[in-house]
Amino acid sequence: MPSPVTVVGGGIAGLACARALLSAGTAVRVLDRGHRPGGRMASRTMRGGRVVDIGASYLTASDGSPFAEVVSRWVERGLARPWTDTFAVAGPGGVERTTSGPVRYAAPAGLRSLVADLAADVDVRREHTVEQIRPGPTVDGEPVPAAVLAMPDPQARRLLDPGTAGRLLGDRPWEPALAVVLGFDRRCWPADLHGVFVHDDETVAWIADDGDRRGDGAPVLVAHTTPGFARDHLADPEAAAPAVTDAVARVLGLDATPGWTTVHRWTFARPTDPRPEPYGLVDAIGACGDGWSAPSRVEAAWTSGDALGRALAESA
Ligand SMILES: Cc1cc2nc3c(=O)[nH]c(=O)nc-3n(C[C@H](O)[C@H](O)[C@H](O)COP(=O)(O)OP(=O)(O)OC[C@H]3O[C@@H](n4cnc5c(N)ncnc54)[C@H](O)[C@@H]3O)c2cc1C
Repeated sequence: MPSPVTVVGGGIAGLACARALLSAGTAVRVLDRGHRPGGRMASRTMRGGRVVDIGASYLTASDGSPFAEVVSRWVERGLARPWTDTFAVAGPGGVERTTSGPVRYAAPAGLRSLVADLAADVDVRREHTVEQIRPGPTVDGEPVPAAVLAMPDPQARRLLDPGTAGRLLGDRPWEPALAVVLGFDRRCWPADLHGVFVHDDETVAWIADDGDRRGDGAPVLVAHTTPGFARDHLADPEAAAPAVTDAVARVLGLDATPGWTTVHRWTFARPTDPRPEPYGLVDAIGACGDGWSAPSRVEAAWTSGDALGRALAESA
């Protein structure tokens, strides 16, 4: 039996691509190096068995878009929930005002559960690290009808020969972030805070109320650092926890300290300059994800993967 189209990367872009191919009747498999699909829609089980979102904070869906239909079905099934359209805005000295925008959606079981839902009925091979994709195309030496790289550019570049990498991806930079989870004994911040965009702070760029977005009211905050602060702590991310804890306390004016903290390093959190094009495709080697379909978001990653899957199905 010939090998199927092979999607490397089981984040939301890879799964959207695989589902588009399957819908068109094209055989496909997804290979992901992680224990579970999800990628940067990452939910990790922490103290007391509670799940915390340590990657993407929420997702948005443009009115009338195909992704909005996907999100609406998740909401109907209770997998996603509208969280809020209003966040606080803070400077280094504290919260200054609120800002409103599109509805942000969260997931009671963590955002990873949404990618797991997309993975149902898809042939996903976990803990499968791909080392090489070469013209042909081949995936680790095996000929395939088409290969898809659904991951951040710097990770994709490592799998390609320099010529294909240059033509498909170019050399766009990506920036890092640290996600620091702060667990408290009690909620000690305003109930209507939801999340805080922090401006002009060297350490923290965003703080999310994880209990609020997940809907269980747990006293847990997740702070995302600035790219510059993350860059300085990539070698030893755990050492960043005290500075981030201090910054969160200062911005929110907290009167309590967290009982526990954990730090997650995202070496390639987001592209500095995502492309407007929906995907890349060179000689049956495709690339999709949030480096495409700018601006870089969950919605962009899904849209990019879906578009590439449809294009490959048409050319199959
Ligand atoms: C800290 C942070 C905060 C964010 N906040 C938001 C937000 O609030 N709202 C929003 O919309 N977006 C947010 N994002 C962006 C969002 O998470 C991404 O746009 C989206 O998850 C990207 O999905 P993807 O499928 O393109 O890539 P990924 O989710 O990164 O998936 C790539 C997959 O490829 C796999 N992989 C990599 N290399 C290999 C290999 N060699 N072999 C096999 N598998 C491999 C990985 O295991 C991973 O599962 C945030 C991201 C970060 C990091």
